[in-house]
Amino acid sequence: MQGKIGNTSYIHEALKENDLYAKKKFGQNFLTDQNVLSKIVDAANIDKDTLVIEVGPGLGSLTEHLVKRAGFVLAYEIDKDLIPILNKTFKDYSNLEVIHQDILEVDINKDIDLYKKDLKKVYLVANLPYYITTPIILGLLSKTEKIRQYVMMMQLEVAQRITGKPKTKDYNALSIAIGYRAKASLELKVPRTVFIPSPNVDSAVVKLSLYDNPPYKAKNEEFFFDFIRLCFNQRRKTLMNNLSQKYKKEFLAEMLHKFGIKDGVRSEELELKDFIKMSDYIEDYYEN
Ligand code: SAM
Repeated sequence: MQGKIGNTSYIHEALKENDLYAKKKFGQNFLTDQNVLSKIVDAANIDKDTLVIEVGPGLGSLTEHLVKRAGFVLAYEIDKDLIPILNKTFKDYSNLEVIHQDILEVDINKDIDLYKKDLKKVYLVANLPYYITTPIILGLLSKTEKIRQYVMMMQLEVAQRITGKPKTKDYNALSIAIGYRAKASLELKVPRTVFIPSPNVDSAVVKLSLYDNPPYKAKNEEFFFDFIRLCFNQRRKTLMNNLSQKYKKEFLAEMLHKFGIKDGVRSEELELKDFIKMSDYIEDYYEN
């Protein structure tokens, strides 16, 4: 689909006409490539049965594609200057609500219940503000199970970490925290040149599809998420050294032996199921 908003001249003119500039503090980099926009929406597989949550509609480059395909779009924008522009641009669409709110403070379950009505699916689609990529994703994943799929543009390096596999340099606490709830895939690499202004990093689109039946389940999820952060606290240290900041070495050696894990192992060599086994074991021992 060809839109009119996500184009270089449109974005420049809209900013000039409204006496605005792209605000760095809000991570504003507006997308100006119709091909990339179409690919994002295609990857999201949305239809008229979908309620789409959009984070940061900006001037509406992505929103324009979303309102044409989705049943309803609920868009949260922190920048008050953009709200009247969005309302004017999309005045002919009755399937869009722009809410002036910080996504990190939204009562997402309440809003979904309010806007979902008869729609069957709830998906998130966004060109994220990069300065808060991780808090947005981890925050929403912990707050709600109603959003079943996320398609998000983010900094390439973060995308590689989220989709990182064991035994690679990209694998870390974030890959595990997200991999616990969802299948993550890197859909598309995007060069920095398709944004206004151009950021100083390249980007990528990541898709998270939440598991209906997660392959593994920790006994205490809050404890598990804290535990994996501790396991990767200092990347160059062994698992034992990271964990011994909090637990006794003899206890840890016994646990590793019990699970057939070698003493000098580094966290990036282990898989999700190993972290769950250890987290359950330590939680049982120390907390009960
Ligand atoms: N969707 C637009 C596009 O693709 O051109 C803009 C994307 S821009 C990378 C990120 C957007 O998120 C900006 O519009 C910015 O104002 C907004 N934003 C930044 N922090 C936010 C927050 N905490 N809550 C909601 N929106 C936020």
